[in-house]
Amino acid sequence: MIKAKDNGGADSITALARESYRGIALYSAPRGRCAVDLSDNTNLWGPPPAALRALRAVGEAEVARYPVAYEPALSNALADYAEVPPEMIACGCGSDDVLDAAIRAFAEPGEILCVPDPSFSMIPVFARANGLRPVLIPLTRQLDADADAMLETGARIIYLCSPNNPTGGSFSRKAVEQIVDRAPGLVIIDQAYVEFGGDNFTDLALSGRPVLLTRTMSKAFGLAGLRVGYGIGSPELIAEVLKARGPYKVNALAERASIAVLDSDRAWVSEHVNKVIANRSAFRTQLAERGLASLESSANFVLIPVRHCAAASLILERAGIRVRPLPGLSGIGDAVRIAIGPRDMMQRCLDALVSQHVMGLATKAGEGA
Ligand code: PMP
Repeated sequence: MIKAKDNGGADSITALARESYRGIALYSAPRGRCAVDLSDNTNLWGPPPAALRALRAVGEAEVARYPVAYEPALSNALADYAEVPPEMIACGCGSDDVLDAAIRAFAEPGEILCVPDPSFSMIPVFARANGLRPVLIPLTRQLDADADAMLETGARIIYLCSPNNPTGGSFSRKAVEQIVDRAPGLVIIDQAYVEFGGDNFTDLALSGRPVLLTRTMSKAFGLAGLRVGYGIGSPELIAEVLKARGPYKVNALAERASIAVLDSDRAWVSEHVNKVIANRSAFRTQLAERGLASLESSANFVLIPVRHCAAASLILERAGIRVRPLPGLSGIGDAVRIAIGPRDMMQRCLDALVSQHVMGLATKAGEGA
């Protein structure tokens, strides 16, 4: 194997890269084996059966040839599910892809993208990667979007996330409508978790105003590994997003499996959404009974404020439970985010959480038993 020379030009190559990219780090998420992984908010029951059947039936042509650019068949199936016309749908390689393309399509480099804080951590990264300036505006005390403060930034793009990751709550219709009514540019409402609760805001996308809803097959639909997301907006808005996105971003296998689930496994999806909602409520009650306060959630996860999230998650990891530590969240402090799955997983998590060690690290001063 040819070995790279010691720093053979590495510094000068780094210097050639866009200056505005220097502060951007590669996304890193812990992987590797863990008995109960509750860190990424996916469907912990697994994929819907129709997806696996569709993947097993993949034909040679689907692998050897390009798919149809801009995936009209998948857009049709998603339009039927979302109850909007097909020309109001833009698919992508995960909703990440749709978000990134929309940001590129609707703001020039140097303009502002306004994000609530805390919210989806990738948005400031997408903003910077597209040359925009992210401006973070703290949530209100009720963990709602601060409409006035967000509008005051004059942002070309205002990003909202409802239900919000990582807090789990949904934003009020009042705040969202105020922003949509007064924003000078695009309003994105990220609804990766919409199946689990909160307002679906579809009427705002149908209103013809510059509103883009983004949704995903990665959470309720159990297809995170296939990477399919979509946006909903007016046909003119969708055309701009697709231009910025480019062709062939959804691969043929992902498209085939997604259509199969939308055609014949919607009942499976809603059955598992209902399980999440029931288990979320039970888990929060059990936490409260043990003196652990969690934030109200309309998503498939709950957020628990803790004293030291790194230490708490390390102890949980040693007990075979992986959660997402979130240090120093604005207005909240350290917290751990825990996805909701089958009862046995939640029981194991609860047992580990209430073990003496974790309780000391988890319970904030003045709270708890
Ligand atoms: N938005 C939010 C709020 C998320 O939490 C995530 C995934 N963690 C995404 C978008 C991206 O999801 P995907 O690209 O898998 O559709």
